[in-house]
Amino acid sequence: MSYLTGILTLLLMAAPAGASWKAGLGKVVITPREPIMMGGYASRDHPSEGVRQDLHAKALALEDESGRRVVIVTLDLSGIPKDVADPIVEQAASAYGLRRDQLMLNASHTHSGPVAGYRPRNFYHLTPQQAVVVKRYTDQLVGHVVSVIGAALKDLAPANLSFEMGYAGFAVNRRRVGRRNLPQPVDHDVLVLSVRDLSGKLRGVIFGYACHATVLNDYQINGDWPGYAQADLEKTHPGAVALFVAGCGADQNPLPRRSVELAETYGRIISIAVSQVLSDKMKPIDPELKTAFQTVDILFDTPPSREQWRKLAQSSDRAVAAHARLMLDQLDRNGKLRTSYPYPVQLLRMGGVFTLVALGGEVVVDYSLRLRAAYGWDNTWIASYSNDVFAYIPSLRVWKEGGYEAGDSMNYSDFPGRFSPQVEEIIVAKVDDMMRRISK
Ligand SMILES: [Zn+2]
Repeated sequence: MSYLTGILTLLLMAAPAGASWKAGLGKVVITPREPIMMGGYASRDHPSEGVRQDLHAKALALEDESGRRVVIVTLDLSGIPKDVADPIVEQAASAYGLRRDQLMLNASHTHSGPVAGYRPRNFYHLTPQQAVVVKRYTDQLVGHVVSVIGAALKDLAPANLSFEMGYAGFAVNRRRVGRRNLPQPVDHDVLVLSVRDLSGKLRGVIFGYACHATVLNDYQINGDWPGYAQADLEKTHPGAVALFVAGCGADQNPLPRRSVELAETYGRIISIAVSQVLSDKMKPIDPELKTAFQTVDILFDTPPSREQWRKLAQSSDRAVAAHARLMLDQLDRNGKLRTSYPYPVQLLRMGGVFTLVALGGEVVVDYSLRLRAAYGWDNTWIASYSNDVFAYIPSLRVWKEGGYEAGDSMNYSDFPGRFSPQVEEIIVAKVDDMMRRISK
């Protein structure tokens, strides 16, 4: 140790207690132990046939100088539905005293992980045997996630946080595939938050990118490109935990795709982009944390009449017909269809300048571009696939253009169809209101 480093270390050690962040990290394997139906594609017709790569639940616990806490959990799963999030939230509250706004859950949206959830969903046709397997897996998953939150909290130790961005270019606006007249917005920023101990050693890195994890579609369990990116980062930075946060990539695909080599390559590209950011100058974040979590009711469009549903039930399109039968069944049982959905919005404000906005559902890239333009490209991070992944969330532009993300995907859901054209303004107004309050 040089004389100067010695003095620096003494100075750092002499800093008053509570003058820095505290951070803790945890990591647990959540690979299914038996063949299970896989999440992401409705076309898979049988359970998984093996494991190509382990899946993980990871947690980053943060505590500011006043003792305010948040835990960010990332999962190598296609989604985190509300029926899985709820028991995790309840158990984390009773075991660790975490309020809802102090826990953020994000799914990587890998299309090569297991189906998880207690509520049957129309998208997947589970046999009775597979429904039992999925329930068994979900029980284990909830236990693992609650335990990894505890592990991260137990690991809390003084740390420095920094933020910066890099770039990577493999996300392609997939709505243009076959419709080349459509515009092609993308968000190619790679968002990086580093967690270092007071000596500067990297303990963890949390990174984001807006792109589907759909390189692979076979029957081998794996984390797709985000899984390979995290594995590569942890190999490059031994001892550090790498956590991936999925961005507004609902209309973005990694292209070209469909080979293990490509999944590894895109993972490597993101890993290199993150490492380049880590090796360069990053903006330090002061140890000040504010958190907020609210839901806002987003509305469904006026549904077809009972008579129209009856006609749709005769459609030659199997998905349309099955969806119409489901809606007729709901009408018979409840006399009405759902008119709104409680949409979760979460804000993590750090250092009084940097904000991570975590949106529910599968959000198209327009939201990322609009909100980052409004609140600052350099210090705003828009995550999607957070806290409740239940449907695609189109922007007004996408809603008007039509297609899968605009509402056709609802034929695979038990919702009454597409959202109303107001959905973008409802969500943006909620984010805006929460942003104003948290910035005070
Ligand atoms: Zn998707």
